[in-house]
Amino acid sequence: MIALVGILVARTMFGNGQNLKLLMEFLCILLLINDVLAWIFRGRPGEMAGWITQISNFMVFCVNYVIMSVAAVFIWRSIGVSGRKPRRIYAVFGLSILGILLLIVSQFNQMFYYFDVHNIYHRGKYFLITQIIAIVGMSLIMTVLIQYRKFLENSVFWAMLSYFILPAAATITLMLYYGLSLQNMAIVISTQIMFIVDIIQMANRLNRSQSDYQKARMEAEHDAMTGLWNKTFGMAYITDYMDKMQEGDSAALFFADIDSFKNVNDTYGHMVGDYWIKEVANILESVFRREDIVCRFGGDEYLILLKGMCREEVLREKILQFEKILERKSLEQGQRIRCSFGICRIMGKGCQIDRCIDLADRALYEAKQEKTSSVVIYQMTDSGE
Ligand code: GH3
Ligand code: MG
Repeated sequence: MIALVGILVARTMFGNGQNLKLLMEFLCILLLINDVLAWIFRGRPGEMAGWITQISNFMVFCVNYVIMSVAAVFIWRSIGVSGRKPRRIYAVFGLSILGILLLIVSQFNQMFYYFDVHNIYHRGKYFLITQIIAIVGMSLIMTVLIQYRKFLENSVFWAMLSYFILPAAATITLMLYYGLSLQNMAIVISTQIMFIVDIIQMANRLNRSQSDYQKARMEAEHDAMTGLWNKTFGMAYITDYMDKMQEGDSAALFFADIDSFKNVNDTYGHMVGDYWIKEVANILESVFRREDIVCRFGGDEYLILLKGMCREEVLREKILQFEKILERKSLEQGQRIRCSFGICRIMGKGCQIDRCIDLADRALYEAKQEKTSSVVIYQMTDSGE
């Protein structure tokens, strides 16, 4: 059941491409089922019980050898070094095949194990060979694991090492107490440990790459100094919104520019200039809503799309809010900083962003000339300005 849950987790969390892990879990299930059958039918009379004990015991040995090779591949893949597999891995494949071939032969000459008339399992004369093949195979894999240890995270390394330690401990115990399937249980348990650690590692890797991706995306979309959308992405989002506007919808495009900013730089230095570029960005962000698009257009210019509103009082109210905060901050710093705004009201569908920006820019230019007001508002509809 645990193995089945493992299969389910691997499939649902990580999709396809988990074939090796699924195969290992499937082999564990096969191993346990056959082990259980071998024990249930052990010593039961009848031809049927005889067949079942024979087949299940054969399967237990056989699956053990297959698991050995699959584990070798699994460990090699986890190490993740590209290029040819070490010869030792191929030697493990060879040992698995040899083990299975001898096992088939043993069905006829009973060299590994046999069953008496009561269907009770007994070790054969050469039983030790089965163990030696497994021990040599596992040792080969272990040398590869240790050699390439530096390529593995610690948790993964130890999980994989448990694949040798647990069965080895089980083998020693079996030498003292005969009659339990400790080895098989050990293999299943270590496979689960490897599986869980591998899944955790995969999940971690996924999280890391997701956060790397998010960081890269954040950097690509935002202006590093202010944290606002940058020009490319800001305009793309504005275009996107305008393309979706329908008849009866409205919006307003603001162009903002700091007045005489060259003087600010010249008088107080570039550091102070930078401070005000960030401060104006912060104020804009606080005045507009989260769903509006505020972007740094470049230099001391900002472009803002106010969604769903273009009533003149609302627009002027926004500017007033902005100016109040900027004035307070300017007084605090003892520096006179002001901004001018050109606004283009957008009604209905079909308005082009380029024309709206042109219009807002013209409005801004006019606002700069005006002595009495810092804002000029134009209107754009699909039929013209
Ligand atoms: P106007 O009132 O007509 O807007 O005059 P202005 O002096 O603000 O003129 P303009 O907008 O053309 O000048 C922008 C200046 O902003 C020019 C440039 O040196 C400066 N600038 C652009 N980017 C930065 C920046 O990131 N940091 C600082 N400190 N200055 C910048
Ligand atoms: Mg300026």
